[in-house]
Amino acid sequence: MSASDPLVEALRTIAGPANVLVSASDTAAYVRDWRGQYPGQARAVVRPATTGEVSAIVRACAQHRAAVVPQGGNTGLTGGSTPDETGREVVLSLRRMNRVRRVDAVDNTMTVEAGVILQAVQQEAARHGRLFPLSLAAEGSATIGGNLATNAGGEHVLRYGNMRSLTLGIEVVLADGRVLDLLSPLYKDNTGYDLRDLFVGCEGTLGVITAAALRLFPAPREQVTAWAAVDTPGHAVALLGALRERLGERVTAFELLVREAVAQVERHIDGARNPLATPAPWFVLAEISETSPGTDLRSQVEAALAHAHEQALVLDVAIAASLGQAEAMWHIRDHVPDAQTRDGASIKHDIAVPLSCIATFLERAAPELLAEIPGVRLVTFGHVGDGNLHYNLSKPVGADDGSFLARADAVHDIVYRHVARLGGSISAEHGIGRAKQAAFLRYKDPVAIDIMRAVKGVLDPAHLLNPGRLLPRD
Ligand code: FAD
Repeated sequence: MSASDPLVEALRTIAGPANVLVSASDTAAYVRDWRGQYPGQARAVVRPATTGEVSAIVRACAQHRAAVVPQGGNTGLTGGSTPDETGREVVLSLRRMNRVRRVDAVDNTMTVEAGVILQAVQQEAARHGRLFPLSLAAEGSATIGGNLATNAGGEHVLRYGNMRSLTLGIEVVLADGRVLDLLSPLYKDNTGYDLRDLFVGCEGTLGVITAAALRLFPAPREQVTAWAAVDTPGHAVALLGALRERLGERVTAFELLVREAVAQVERHIDGARNPLATPAPWFVLAEISETSPGTDLRSQVEAALAHAHEQALVLDVAIAASLGQAEAMWHIRDHVPDAQTRDGASIKHDIAVPLSCIATFLERAAPELLAEIPGVRLVTFGHVGDGNLHYNLSKPVGADDGSFLARADAVHDIVYRHVARLGGSISAEHGIGRAKQAAFLRYKDPVAIDIMRAVKGVLDPAHLLNPGRLLPRD
């Protein structure tokens, strides 16, 4: 579209000329998704600073029948935050809406605009002696709006729940430009249907989230981080049970990593080193935190782990002796996706099964996958405490990328079939976007899909908000 495009002119009037980008070089960072799988182009990228501007932009796009793609930090992993290849969609970047509107230490709430970076929310909470517990490897770029639109999970769901559980109120611009104000930071409000939860996890298809009232928690006073070698995923799940038995809800994070995941990090990431020399097929990274003073958490964790060792649940264990050592353990976990990318082509899944079915899932899926692609490397890792696995496959050593990736559909079929049989989900964290739509339509309850289509029809009858993502365009 040329500079005289009437929609672009309207957007310039609303947001100011400096905040409407049209050239390929200016829009480049907004049209490429994190994994580079969905290259697109935009009619324009518009960067509003207020809810009023978002409302006017959505109205203008509706008048010109232009689709709107809401975008936060653009760290999403399913192709939902970038425009398609037609050059007709408008990217609505929320990143300039980055104000903390209010922190209330009595109510334990923080009200922020959608474009505030997750890490900034964590830091602001800490400044007030509180904790905002959502934590994920992309937290330096991901925004609260994106976290809400994907109902983000991450490392602390085990104790604090996902983004839905961490949110009290929400402000949304609807497809017709009206502002839905549900921002009140109330813990209790039983006045009718819970509309807030419609927009959490909607992936930008039902409205543009402009602000949220978030829950804050007491800051931890003591944290113990442990790295354990275990023999099987079943032992890992049993270890989690044993730790919870003794330490209760203080078990804050519980991550599982297969040996190959750790090996990839050691190969590709500077300074990363497995803290244990003991050879083991699986490793667990656990974090236990205490908010009350004077409990000597470390001794309690040591006792719980010693007991687990006696029960033969762990082969060996290292407990971080300093913040630096704890960070080094998390450094390994956080760099698994990066290391896997550097190791060559991979086929990825973000699945959940009930915790009790984790071992069964792995036992059933692995032999079929190895028969399908001999030599394939199963790089399993994830937030196993929530039943969530990033069940990724790296190509066999020396294999050609193209012919490996050509098998992706067959691989997905095997994985999702086993997930479905165990009552699991094909997307535990990252959402559907464009990447998982086919599997979503195949495995989700058809009645649920009918209802979702009906809700979309009511809230966005012209299909202008992120069309073709999550639900198909028809
Ligand atoms: P974007 O990528 O910009 O957008 C994601 C989706 O939300 C798109 O559909 C977009 O249209 C929509 N959207 C964005 N902002 C708004 C808004 N204001 N209103 C309406 N819709 C909007 N995710 C997890 O859940 N757990 C993890 O542990 C995790 N780890 C990750 C690690 C890495 C290294 C990376 C790259 C990603 C990871 N993710 C994880 C995925 C991603 O970081 C999250 O989905 C995050 O919540 C996306 O936030 P964002 O601001 O980048 O959203």
